[in-house]
Amino acid sequence: MIVPCLGINDNGHLTIAGRDALALAEKYGTPAYFIDEETIRANCRAYKAALSKYAPEGSIPLYAGKALCCAAIYRIIAEEGLGADVVSAGEIATAVLAGFPMERAYFHGNAKTDSDIRYAISAGVGTFVVDNFDELSALDRIAGELGVRQRVLLRITPGIDPHTHRKIITGSVDSKFGVAIETGQAINFVREALEKKSIELCGLHCHIGSQIFEPDPFIEAASIMVEFAKSCKKEFGWEPEILNLGGGFGVRYIEDHPHINIDENIKKVCGTVASICEEAGLRVPKIFLEPGRSIVANAGVTLYTVCSVKEITGYKNYVAVDGGMTDNPRYALYSSPYTIIVANRASEPADFECTVAGRCCESGDLLAEGVKIQKCERGDILAVLCTGAYNYSMASNYNRVPRPPIVMLAQGSEYIAVERESYDDIVRLDRVR
Ligand SMILES: *Cc1c(COP(=O)(O)O)cnc(C)c1O
Repeated sequence: MIVPCLGINDNGHLTIAGRDALALAEKYGTPAYFIDEETIRANCRAYKAALSKYAPEGSIPLYAGKALCCAAIYRIIAEEGLGADVVSAGEIATAVLAGFPMERAYFHGNAKTDSDIRYAISAGVGTFVVDNFDELSALDRIAGELGVRQRVLLRITPGIDPHTHRKIITGSVDSKFGVAIETGQAINFVREALEKKSIELCGLHCHIGSQIFEPDPFIEAASIMVEFAKSCKKEFGWEPEILNLGGGFGVRYIEDHPHINIDENIKKVCGTVASICEEAGLRVPKIFLEPGRSIVANAGVTLYTVCSVKEITGYKNYVAVDGGMTDNPRYALYSSPYTIIVANRASEPADFECTVAGRCCESGDLLAEGVKIQKCERGDILAVLCTGAYNYSMASNYNRVPRPPIVMLAQGSEYIAVERESYDDIVRLDRVR
């Protein structure tokens, strides 16, 4: 199964973490995100176990909070012993609310403002991942003013094209993120960081992209980064304590996507780092990874109510639901494929070819095109699978549609992690003069 916690019960209804999907829809309303806590924990443990097996002590996964950011997630991540990759003051505030140990937070982003920097330092963020020369100077100045010596990783662009979707490639030389090795600017970045009084340079970071299934691009990036570390040692006598290889392990959204073996991939990547370091006479750094989607995606299912089934004779069929791009913009943005099941007809044949459309006034507001699902009608419950990542976190109020709640399903208990927005929430900041 694309989502491990799913099943079908005797009524032919889909079950999510052992609960009847129809009962969940009834109880919490639609649309709503349902997240299985056990799946998140299992994913965390897979990364953690592999890094402790194959990488030096102190190597940990950092959960990339942008995939699904709410206080309940940070609590789970903290309990599982992961660090966190945070990208904004808002994400930091969320982690702080959850009582996340902020020394395990790594602050990313290519356009941090002075106030972001100040806020992060005062919130106790352990390490900054500095993206560019301007940020380095600003951080040095502000850390100096606040009387701290700030731990830092430098974001380096290794120049890798992992052959995924254009909008999610980030490791190529002309990326908006990081400083490139190829142009000779990265070595100067390290030099400047080492010269700054209020900066403690702890290591290097790269992130080559997302939804990558094979280990090869990570291995290639790791080799380039270790070669770069070698030049740093030669030039400055400095060696990274941490090599952070970023996120991006792929997720199976549809049956056609390959299975991914986290243990095997991490073993290969760590093996490559260790062997190149040994050859180069470098100490093997702690290896960090920053999984986002592969921690939360397959823990999530969104339930919708079918509002209409429109058969345009000789053309195509539409199934329209009570949500769409406002709660899941990924099809509209990236044409990302999803697996869809009619929850109350889960054991019937999936032979109705259709386009699943959202409720917004926008032709591009679709959740899937040309998918085969069970024949359905108004009032049926539609389940879109594998929506734990980049759904809630990318949701909007376009058309003033309230955002759905997040319901966490744990073993033996369930709770609302984020309430459904009300119409009061929608107009809360509006003022009529
Ligand atoms: C987006 C991002 C991640 C997480 O990527 P996933 O594809 O969700 O695993 C990790 N690190 C950085 C720097 C990112 O920008």
